[in-house]
Amino acid sequence: MGIDTLCIHGGHAADAHRAHLTPLYASSTYSFDSVRQGVDIFSGKEPGYIYGRFGNPTINEVERKISLLEAFGLKDAQGNDLSLYAILHASGMAAITTLLLSNLKAGDKIITHPSLYGGTQEMIDKILPGLGIATVIVDMHNDELVRSTISKDDNIKMMYLETPANPTLQCIDLKRLSAIGKEHHLIVCADNTFCTPLLQQPFAYDVDFVIHSTTKFLNGHGTAIGGILIGRDARRMNTDVKKMHRLLGANSNAFDAFLLTNGLRTLSLRMERHCSNAMKVAEYLTKHPQVATVNYPGLSYHPHHAIAKAQMKDFGGLMSIELKGGFDAAASFMNKLKVCTNAVSLGTCDTLVSHPASTTHVGVSHELRLASGISDGLIRMSIGLESVADIIADLEQALG
Ligand SMILES: *Cc1c(COP(=O)(O)O)cnc(C)c1O
Repeated sequence: MGIDTLCIHGGHAADAHRAHLTPLYASSTYSFDSVRQGVDIFSGKEPGYIYGRFGNPTINEVERKISLLEAFGLKDAQGNDLSLYAILHASGMAAITTLLLSNLKAGDKIITHPSLYGGTQEMIDKILPGLGIATVIVDMHNDELVRSTISKDDNIKMMYLETPANPTLQCIDLKRLSAIGKEHHLIVCADNTFCTPLLQQPFAYDVDFVIHSTTKFLNGHGTAIGGILIGRDARRMNTDVKKMHRLLGANSNAFDAFLLTNGLRTLSLRMERHCSNAMKVAEYLTKHPQVATVNYPGLSYHPHHAIAKAQMKDFGGLMSIELKGGFDAAASFMNKLKVCTNAVSLGTCDTLVSHPASTTHVGVSHELRLASGISDGLIRMSIGLESVADIIADLEQALG
């Protein structure tokens, strides 16, 4: 099957009542015909649902669909089609929490790079240290530094990658970094939210786990918060990882899963348009006299264009720009937008524009913000599916 077909039909199982779409199973518990059946389902001898926190048919459909998309066209070490296992979560942060807590214990360390998603960074800074889990942040464009840091510290157990990443769309070379991680027997993880499996498949480079905030492009319509954790080791996914998900109470719900399944049906079409619109917007902004910099991996002068080109099928819908006039120019630009929406988040059908210095990073000191690349004039844009001429006209009048 082609990937467009998988977006639509992948993971669907016939419904007992022949409903065309998998219904919303709004049931917190499931009954047993007999004590015998209860024993068999509880012990895993017979497949079946038990309790909503452990699983739900509407949720399982979308887990199967996303596993198939991430595994599309990939082979395992034996040359068979790659099988992956996914667990849907209440949010991207819930998926990241399950990932970290089911794989790390006190004394273990993570190696990662600067400019992770804000919530992930806060988890690393504010929660993990209290559990005895430290994080080493290094420049992952320096292979020797990464190798020597890992070699010197036996406690480093996990490599955590996010590419492309805010705010300047830095890309990390998944093939090279995952190979270094594997040389040292680390658990390698990638946050693939900005790309979706349609643009980038980290499992092609041997990573162990991929997470997504499904809130973004996968849902695509901004209707539900969600996250997914996908792993290649069935035994681990079905034991430690599943147990952590259940005991954290990190489960999603049937309604959000239903919305996600419906969103995914159009993922391949949407990603094509996000990418082609973003490229046109980036090219337009590059020439604009008020714009100092355009950070878009599709532009040949982006510092990580070559990495993006090697591992991404297209360059995605996200970019950031730096306005010459600083905070005031950014505020005036934001206030004049008419077609584009001033909102955080990304990956929805409409173009979302945000000004980190006045929103997500308003509580962060000026010096700290600058150190993470967030200047007063930085604007982040998630380019939507509107007629591209309308997006460009709106930016033009707001810049003017
Ligand atoms: C939004 C986001 C997250 C967190 O996901 P939530 O669904 O908001 O919990 C993690 N990583 C990236 C790259 C994101 O954009």
